[in-house]
Amino acid sequence: MKRRLQRIYWVGILLTLVVAAAAIVMLVSIKIGDTQEDLYHTLSTASEWTLESDEDLQELADSIASVAPPVRVTFLMNHGLVLADSILPAVEMENHMDRPEIIEAMRGEIGESLRMSETQDVVILYAAKQISPQLILRLGYPIRELTQLLLWYGAGLVVLFLILFVLQRRSLSHFANSLVTQMDDVRRLLEGDKFQPKAVFPELQPAMNNIAYLIERMESDRQEILRTQNLRSDFVANASHELRSPLTSIMGFAEMLDEGLADSPEEQALCTQMIRSECDRMLEVIEDILLLNRSERQAPQNTRPVNVANVAREICRSLAPRAAEKHISLQVIGELTLQAVEKDIWEVLYNLSDNAVRYGREGGYVHIRLSENKIAVEDNGIGIDKAHQARIFEQFYRVDEMRDSAVRGTGMGLSIVRAIVQRYGGDVSVESEPGSGSCFTACFATNEEKL
Ligand code: ADP
Repeated sequence: MKRRLQRIYWVGILLTLVVAAAAIVMLVSIKIGDTQEDLYHTLSTASEWTLESDEDLQELADSIASVAPPVRVTFLMNHGLVLADSILPAVEMENHMDRPEIIEAMRGEIGESLRMSETQDVVILYAAKQISPQLILRLGYPIRELTQLLLWYGAGLVVLFLILFVLQRRSLSHFANSLVTQMDDVRRLLEGDKFQPKAVFPELQPAMNNIAYLIERMESDRQEILRTQNLRSDFVANASHELRSPLTSIMGFAEMLDEGLADSPEEQALCTQMIRSECDRMLEVIEDILLLNRSERQAPQNTRPVNVANVAREICRSLAPRAAEKHISLQVIGELTLQAVEKDIWEVLYNLSDNAVRYGREGGYVHIRLSENKIAVEDNGIGIDKAHQARIFEQFYRVDEMRDSAVRGTGMGLSIVRAIVQRYGGDVSVESEPGSGSCFTACFATNEEKL
């Protein structure tokens, strides 16, 4: 990341330098253009003057140079021999035949050249013209300012580069530090710290909010997965326990028969009856597991209006023999129609009413109250201690093995009831006092709530 930023920054610096260099070149060429115009003008005036004057060439060169400083004036033969020069003695000067401006002038054009002078340490703009068949006049304009200009601009470029370089270092390290701080915030969020992260750059705030939201969701998903895993392993342990107990009894009774320990026909009949009873218990557990599995998975399908009171009355009829054994009266109070699958309503009502009878007191009552979207099953039985009320809806949970051992059960009934009611968008709750009775209420979602 840092490298990428550095690269971008370097490209930025290079572009700035290129633009600055282009500006310098432009300024220099404007300067040269102006100088060139002046020099051409002086060259044509000096040519006319030379043709009209009868002065000696050296005197003429000095006079022209004196009226147009800092111009250097040179007269040459058209084969390059220097005849007079306003700066150096002509005899000391070499043949100028190879100079580009002289070559061009000999072709009849106005020769020009910009180069470093070999005799003066300065850039000179030359312009030369053939003023007679034998004679060439050359003027040279030393562009000292240009040299200075180039030096200043060059120095300026170096300074600009250094400033940009320092700025780049500082802003890059500031940027990198800010990102490190931001990453630190993300790390803290991932480690479970709860806080609203503040972005170091305002543009990053929505991204930081998103990250915080996603991490929170990830954490709650993780908790949910852990909870499901725990539930599953509890379920496996409980289910194995529930199946192992009757199986151990069956094996015990089978061994008794096998080893001839039950000799009388009565004892043998008791053994087979116990084996059958334990088999029934295993079957009950397995059926409850399958029912719970179905209730948790399947969404209600093919629902139709169910007359809950009719279902409740049917259940009362089927529980009547067992209720009669304990002299418990069963009563359905109120009317209710629910949009549901009838079998689901039957399961909910049966499990709650069956519990109310099983855990009901001798000569007690069971009232099934129906109202709005609620089914409440009330009894005046043994009741449930507060400490157990929150757990009785868990799979295989039985309040007290000692207390409940007298009452046959799998500990699955209420978890099946809860799974079914929750599938309809509702929930089930309990109010109970030990010794006074219990009231279980299954509350189904209304149509508006479902929406
Ligand atoms: P079980 O098959 O053991 O009855 P449930 O899931 O139906 O399983 O009930 C769980 C536990 O809740 C029972 O073991 C019992 O202790 C308690 N319970 C349920 N209904 C009642 C009730 N009406 N009165 C007292 N205790 C109840």
